[in-house]
Amino acid sequence: MIEVRNLVKKYGTHLAVDHLDFTMRSGRIYGFLGPNGAGKSTTMNIMTGYLGATEGEVLIDGHDILKEPEKAKRHIGYLPEQPPLYLDMTVREYLEFAAELKGIAREKRKEQITEAEKLVKIKDTEHRLIKNLSKGYRQRVGLAQAVLGFPEIIILDEPTVGLDPKQIIEIRNLIRGLARKHTVILSSHILAEVREVCDHILIISRGRLVASDTPENLEKMLGEHDQIELETDAQPSQVRLILKNMPGIESVETRTDSAGKTWAKITEKKGEDVRESVFRVFAGAQIPLLTLKATGTTLEDVFMELTQKDTVPKAFSDKTKREEAENDAGSV
Ligand code: ADP
Ligand code: MG
Repeated sequence: MIEVRNLVKKYGTHLAVDHLDFTMRSGRIYGFLGPNGAGKSTTMNIMTGYLGATEGEVLIDGHDILKEPEKAKRHIGYLPEQPPLYLDMTVREYLEFAAELKGIAREKRKEQITEAEKLVKIKDTEHRLIKNLSKGYRQRVGLAQAVLGFPEIIILDEPTVGLDPKQIIEIRNLIRGLARKHTVILSSHILAEVREVCDHILIISRGRLVASDTPENLEKMLGEHDQIELETDAQPSQVRLILKNMPGIESVETRTDSAGKTWAKITEKKGEDVRESVFRVFAGAQIPLLTLKATGTTLEDVFMELTQKDTVPKAFSDKTKREEAENDAGSV
């Protein structure tokens, strides 16, 4: 339903989007996840026809967003990072204006606006000026604008940014509700958000797609190595020295917490369980272990691994290519 092929965007010499390739199917919630500056907004602006690409193409239901913008845009509702709200309009006036811009037939506007207002729960604020609304309500007005006309695809750029925790929960629930009838694509730099809401995550780092999978599979893929955490009073350098060259250990990271305790995160080699030998080696050195526990790989680890390194782990690049090939074969 959405095909992005070889997408490149340069700002001057700066490569903001670096050959992105992916396919999105209908009826799912997709999340673009990446740190600030990764290229999420640029990609969304291109996908929605707000910005031209340097290279590559975006097809919405088979229509090129630049060559057939009217046909392609008919399928999309977009909430940009900075929603274009007119502060001196009332909510209703603004939505009427937005409906007109979207080309919704005059006789259908009233009903559609009411439906959108009900969906995002702003019916009771429709006669208030936008400038008098809280950030959370303004975001809902932006959302109402995006869903107006009920397009098949709804694209939301950082929909919860700047909202308080209660508003965030409300917006997330709204997004989940939308996904029953629409394909939703949202971006976020917050891992917890995409994990909670999305069926499929595309991790973007420095303009490149570094992973594309379900949250569960992303965790599993890097989860081949188990980890152990331990806490002690010894100095980090001493801990590293003790663990150095111990068989079964892949790597060790240490940090000091606010109470002055040393924490070490040990990554085990595949298939190893070094808990007992770690206990013995610390006992032998007469250093008490205050904590020793096994932890799995979390999506946080995956995200850090993928967005902090320049190189993409092989398993991921292969998987991403495979996924694309499957998507290509079965895309609609
Ligand atoms: P994200 O939404 O993931 O935070 P953006 O797409 O906004 O990332 O930005 C990607 C990169 O492109 C960043 O390095 C940003 O500084 C740069 N960039 C974005 N917009 C412009 C612009 N209009 N002119 C020049 N550089 C830009
Ligand atoms: Mg952005």
